Amino acid sequence: IDESIQRFNDLINKKELKIKFKADKHCCVQVPIYHATLVIDNIISNAIKYSNQKGTIIIELKSKGHQVSCIISDEGIGINKEDIDKLFNPFFRSAFLEHKNISGTGLGLAITKKALDAIHGKIHIKSKKGYGTKVEILLSIK
Ligand code: ATP
Ligand code: MG
Repeated sequence: IDESIQRFNDLINKKELKIKFKADKHCCVQVPIYHATLVIDNIISNAIKYSNQKGTIIIELKSKGHQVSCIISDEGIGINKEDIDKLFNPFFRSAFLEHKNISGTGLGLAITKKALDAIHGKIHIKSKKGYGTKVEILLSIK
């Protein structure tokens, strides 16, 4: 997570975003670095891209029974209710106005889902248009 934040530092500074990172002390999970990097980079990249100027992004890591939960929340443009089920379809991008000058391929979440499937991880996305988005990644400790 730290490395990913470093990689996007220029964009974070340009948008004057505040990043808050909270982690449970004894929160530990072992996953292949390639998958972890791909998933975290894509979710953090979205949180940054779809944040408004001076927004706050909160990243929380906590233990949840036999799983580790990573929640990444932003206060950005949010997602239409009708679009939530399509987010993992390759090339899907929400079609509303605020989006027009934000570039992307619509592949990030499709690839993220594949990477999580490969390591038996789960992803849940909740969002309210105009208020922000919350993405939860669940990884099994075993
Ligand atoms: P890229 O392939 O470069 O990541 P992308 O960001 O458009 O392009 P995805 O990451 O797959 O593609 O996301 C798909 C769509 O879901 C986005 O185009 C956007 O409409 C919506 N979306 C994803 N994350 C967020 C978010 N945090 N806030 C608002 N909309 C989001
Ligand atoms: Mg993306």
